[in-house]
Amino acid sequence: MMNSIVGNPEVGIYRGRLPIGCELCRIGAKLVIFVTGECGDNCFYCPVSEKRFGKDRIFANESEVNDTNEIIWEAYRMSALGASITGGDPLLHLDRTVKIVTALKEEFGSQFHIHLYTSGRYATTDAIRELAYAGLDEIRFHPINEKYLKFAERATTFDIDVGIEIPAVPGQEKFIIDVIKWAENNKVKFVNINELEVTERNYTNLLPMGIKVEHGIAGGSKSAELAIGIVKELEPSKISLHYCSSVYKDIVETRTRFIRTAKNVRKPYEEITGEGTIIRLVTKKWNRDLETYGEVIGNELHLSPNLDKEILHSIDEAWLVETHPDARRLEISRTRIRYPES
Ligand code: SF4
Repeated sequence: MMNSIVGNPEVGIYRGRLPIGCELCRIGAKLVIFVTGECGDNCFYCPVSEKRFGKDRIFANESEVNDTNEIIWEAYRMSALGASITGGDPLLHLDRTVKIVTALKEEFGSQFHIHLYTSGRYATTDAIRELAYAGLDEIRFHPINEKYLKFAERATTFDIDVGIEIPAVPGQEKFIIDVIKWAENNKVKFVNINELEVTERNYTNLLPMGIKVEHGIAGGSKSAELAIGIVKELEPSKISLHYCSSVYKDIVETRTRFIRTAKNVRKPYEEITGEGTIIRLVTKKWNRDLETYGEVIGNELHLSPNLDKEILHSIDEAWLVETHPDARRLEISRTRIRYPES
């Protein structure tokens, strides 16, 4: 049943086969490599943050990195099965991008699936050839307008999966449908339609269009309605059609990636929450016999949050500390606990 709809409108729906890059995203096994914030376009809906857009900075997931070794290290931290190369436009730094693709393939083998996003503006035939030669598996074009489709067409002559990824911009229904029809006739494997994502850099452009910030309740915006309507209405036979909601990133992609990473990086006394964050108990005054249950770091003793109250009888105060599992171990909350607890 190639054309039946699979999924849930609140998170995402699709017809046909989900692209491999999206499958990896679903299970949190995709390393996100932000190759550069530089881009030759300036879309009004661009979701790239102020901190990154226009800046030549490299990130592997949430961490800023300086070289390919640090990218590989981040891939090991999360037991990545593939990578997504994004920006900005990675093709503005083609040598760097090719080096990263080559290094990942050498380190993890040909099965390590790599896909790349580009507007296509710099996708010359030579650039695509270089990327295909390095082992890039999938290239996703974000055509800003009809003229950009010719860049995607070029890629279809190479042994590489070609996809189209476009935002569901209210008022652009005809353009989106035309792109899907074009994809059907041009050896493209899939079209992904993304709900517009409201960020601190684009909200002044999106809010007047009825694009709401509704974290946890996807499918409510005009952008989501448009994308869901198109996927329900169209039944392309040669390509897969996929709608991805803006909250998907938070409730599926980030959460599953965090859980996957946390299993690798948590210390024996730390616990993983359902959100993939890591919690531990921290105290500043303790009896030495308590040290066998945890680790002394500086002037703090770090312990499991699940220790029996009897074991903790010698302390009168502690903090429940929650961190992200990323390389920074970013602290997101610290809750004071007085002992004995009532
Ligand atoms: S092409 Fe992509 S990165 Fe560049 S401005 Fe548009 S949305 Fe942002």
